[in-house]
Amino acid sequence: MGKKLNTGRNPSTKEFLEAERVLSLHPLQRKTHPSAIPADVAKLDHINTYGSLPEYYVDQPFTCRQCGKHEIWKAKDQKWYYEEAKGHIDAIAIECHACRSRKKDRHNSI
Ligand SMILES: [Zn+2]
Repeated sequence: MGKKLNTGRNPSTKEFLEAERVLSLHPLQRKTHPSAIPADVAKLDHINTYGSLPEYYVDQPFTCRQCGKHEIWKAKDQKWYYEEAKGHIDAIAIECHACRSRKKDRHNSI
């Protein structure tokens, strides 16, 4: 029974609804949910914000604004994006993986 690598790029309806449910929980419940990943605040020092830094990440379900596909931005991918790729904290997933890579291809060909 190998566990399939779940990238969130093709979530089942059940996974998507579960992610939405977790997101709608009370923050304290969300924080202690098994899918929450604690943030390493020391790695977030590039974020210069008056708001509070995230203490943890949870899977973010979203609908692609280009093609309408449902995807989940996995907590571990957010952690990588913010802490390793030093992404801006206001960044949210708005396009699915396919649409993003299409855009990347276009940029590369210029
Ligand atoms: Zn898309």
